Amino acid sequence: MNFLSDRLNSLSPSETLAMSQKSNELKAQGFDVINLSVGEPDFTTPEHIKEAAKKAVDNNFSFYSPVPGYMELRKAICAKLKSENNLEYKPEQIVVSGGAKQSVCNVILSVVGPGDEVIIPAPYWVSYIEMVKLAEGKNIIVSAGFDQEFKMTPAQLEAAITPKTKALILCSPSNPTGSVYTKEELKGLADVLAKYPQIVIISDEIYEHINYVGGHESIAQFENLRDRVVIVNGVSKGYAMTGWRIGFIAAPQWLASACNKLQSQYTSGPCSVAQKAAEAAYTGDQSCVAEMRTAFERRRDLMVKLGKEIPGFKVNVPQGAFYLFPECSYYFGKSYNGKTIKDSNDLAIWLLEESHVACVGGGAFGAPDCIRFSYAAADEQLIEAMRRIKETLSKLQ
Ligand code: PMP
Ligand code: GLU
Repeated sequence: MNFLSDRLNSLSPSETLAMSQKSNELKAQGFDVINLSVGEPDFTTPEHIKEAAKKAVDNNFSFYSPVPGYMELRKAICAKLKSENNLEYKPEQIVVSGGAKQSVCNVILSVVGPGDEVIIPAPYWVSYIEMVKLAEGKNIIVSAGFDQEFKMTPAQLEAAITPKTKALILCSPSNPTGSVYTKEELKGLADVLAKYPQIVIISDEIYEHINYVGGHESIAQFENLRDRVVIVNGVSKGYAMTGWRIGFIAAPQWLASACNKLQSQYTSGPCSVAQKAAEAAYTGDQSCVAEMRTAFERRRDLMVKLGKEIPGFKVNVPQGAFYLFPECSYYFGKSYNGKTIKDSNDLAIWLLEESHVACVGGGAFGAPDCIRFSYAAADEQLIEAMRRIKETLSKLQ
């Protein structure tokens, strides 16, 4: 007997989290596993942020917070949007949630209904398509490959639009490719979107602070789209706060109200103590963000260099986030000890078993020829991981 709903049965588990769990299981068995699967900074949360959380506990921030988050935090987010992004938002337009993941899902559940089409450029972050399935919408995948720096062109966007298009999901800097859209590229997409007023634009900017090419550009800067662009962001990546689970949307009022209503029935406001920590992140000294970004850039350079030394890998130079996403189809069809590698998911599992390095096959990101390595790990670990991978891959015939 299958008691589960069709909606649940159609859902796939998160591949990034699944690979990380497999890696932790092997570690627990005593294997020396290097985990480059899940995307989270290896840094610990900065001290002043932890202090703010401790103070919040002592000051009895133990009650329900307002559903969209504390006013102080929403004001701090508005101040951040003004000073860093030159965007004006009122606190009523901000909804704080249990991570950017919940923020994206709130928006999708608020605007996407059965049969609605959502345009998602591939490679994409694993969870978007599953969230659209949850909303019973239809994913329209636009492939943007290696040769176009994994970025969708305005012409591709326009060709994918139909009368049923309800939303577009953009992610820049991108997980998994590290690509960053320039202002001119965003303007090109915005000009197309201006012609189709029924489309909501979801702009996932969670990697805003991990950008190696200069200032962050948001599609929300184009005034003519402001009544239907929603920014998703949060503290997880830029402030090394993945476990605190705080993300937010900055949205037109109609959409913020909808997400507020949804959240009121679903989770209530996010964790009170974590909100006080996030407030300290946005209002405190920002030098920790720059320091971590600098370390990620050094590791990016290291990974590009080591990746290029692996025969058969086609490596681009990621401009943001903390992932290397090489094309690895050279190895498909090759075998070792009776095991044949069919695709990149096979390759990821095999690398975990043979070299004890965990990464994620590109299939889950809509790019089955690629494989993702998170380089949010110590330099020595990255060097050792890439050494093992090179050696292990050389066994494939
Ligand atoms: N968007 C992207 C592109 C991500 O990589 C992640 C990381 N899981 C999220 C959203 C979700 O972030 P959070 O941990 O704040 O839920
Ligand atoms: N965003 C991270 C990743 O892609 C975290 C895992 C997840 O939430 O899926 O690995």
